[in-house]
Amino acid sequence: VNTIVQSFLLENKINFATNEGQLSTDFQKLNPVITVFPADFFELEKTIKILSANKIKFHVVSKGHNWGYGDKNSKLICTCSIDLRKMNKIIRYDQALGTLEIEPGVTQKQIYLYLNELKSPWCLDITGADSNSSIVGNYLERGFGHTFYGDHEDKGKILEAITPQGKVFNPHFIFSNESRVRGLYQHDLSLNLEKIFYQTNFAIVTKFLVKLKPRNQKTILAVVLNKNATSEFELIQKISHLKMHEVVNSIPHIANFERVNKVSEVSVKTKFKYAATIDISGTKELACLRKKLISKTFAKDKVYFFTKANLFVLEKLISWRFIPAVYKENFQNVKSLFDLIDGIPTDYFVKNSLGADFMQNPKKSLWIAPLFPISEEAFLRLKAILEEVTLKYNFNLATTVSLISDRLAVCVADITLNSNDEKSLQLGLTCYQELVERLFKEGFPLYRMGYAHSEMPKNSEYFVEIYKSIKNIFDPDDLLSPGRWLK
Ligand SMILES: Cc1cc2nc3c(=O)[nH]c(=O)nc-3n(C[C@H](O)[C@H](O)[C@H](O)COP(=O)(O)OP(=O)(O)OC[C@H]3O[C@@H](n4cnc5c(N)ncnc54)[C@H](O)[C@@H]3O)c2cc1C
Repeated sequence: VNTIVQSFLLENKINFATNEGQLSTDFQKLNPVITVFPADFFELEKTIKILSANKIKFHVVSKGHNWGYGDKNSKLICTCSIDLRKMNKIIRYDQALGTLEIEPGVTQKQIYLYLNELKSPWCLDITGADSNSSIVGNYLERGFGHTFYGDHEDKGKILEAITPQGKVFNPHFIFSNESRVRGLYQHDLSLNLEKIFYQTNFAIVTKFLVKLKPRNQKTILAVVLNKNATSEFELIQKISHLKMHEVVNSIPHIANFERVNKVSEVSVKTKFKYAATIDISGTKELACLRKKLISKTFAKDKVYFFTKANLFVLEKLISWRFIPAVYKENFQNVKSLFDLIDGIPTDYFVKNSLGADFMQNPKKSLWIAPLFPISEEAFLRLKAILEEVTLKYNFNLATTVSLISDRLAVCVADITLNSNDEKSLQLGLTCYQELVERLFKEGFPLYRMGYAHSEMPKNSEYFVEIYKSIKNIFDPDDLLSPGRWLK
């Protein structure tokens, strides 16, 4: 197989490399595939056609920075991978509507620099992933950020895709090729085909529209610190009420201090158990009103409000030599988070979680991200399962609860290994598999799964039949990311 692909690629002067010897966050060994780096759509199309003609199974990534979800790894059955990092054009910017049409290789950093250069009134909702992560991979995986543009599936639209057989189509407004509102209307007329390409790997997305967020007139990051181990749910519920009443419209995150320490360079010792971080930015009037209401809601807790002005002063203060390292670290942590909500990407969180050389040698790490309804019974049950299983395998439980809607949240935990030996890998994998099984069984589905581990529990034969029929339309030979969602 490799010889066929290699000679075709050489003949057509298409860039490729083998990934042998490289490392990934995945607990399973990196599948030694040939990775193709098409420079443009035509090279991609040619590559797909040759793979399809030779029935070669392949995976696709935009940048492959899917840390904690297996990043660029694929199942052993794939012998090839297409990495779209070179297809990184910003195709069109609409200043009036605040939209960008992009290719899959475009990164968070690229958009930040582009909009900054134009002094654009728009910015991107940034994630905690590194600045060179893609937009398209993240949005297709239903990633989320921190601001009111944080629900990424909701803020993007697939404009063009190519099937593993090489057929090109526009999934949004499929009945109206000339549509002026392609990518803008949240629904469709009749069939909304676009929706079926998120987390399915039915086709390869080649053009994407991102809705940009109006730049904040006033950026305020509220941080609520909570001392009491038993009141995590109370904190979640109060924030959920603020969301229901639209006092808060962003995606607030509540981290325990195990999580805060995992993403910090220096361990933070504190009497507090949880830190809630809430983006309350917007127009001056709205941000100030939100600040007032948050102060009132959390009158019994410690609440800090960070703005550009007070961070500027703090930065001067903490630069003094005699200030302890832990305060400097607290500042770095808050500043990096503040930058995110202000549209500035950072490598800070990934570096601290996966190691400074995360591009070459990332720590082995798997995210586990169950969804739960905001009810005390459900939350306590979920926490009990996570604690019981991680304790059994001797992993510490670092969690973030993110309120991605007013009635539902996701609890993101991770299993990160300190050593890459076979025994640790096996232990980590067993712990992950036991968690997945328990969580699904007790009604807490994950919002996202990595490729190597992504088999859905098959509790409905009819679902499998429907799924396979749809896949069969786009990919009758099951060439693209086989086994990504179903065996
Ligand atoms: C410390 C830390 C913080 C993080 N914070 C966040 C966060 O705040 N929010 C968040 O969402 N994630 C977060 N992540 C997870 C992850 O790193 C990001 O989601 C990242 O953006 C995904 O990598 P990527 O964009 O390069 O996507 P890729 O790895 O390129 O793609 C992801 C998957 O999408 C599919 N895909 C990609 N491109 C295409 C295409 N063109 N056509 C069809 N299918 C495609 C493939 O199945 C691929 O495996 C974090 C990770 C770490 C370690």
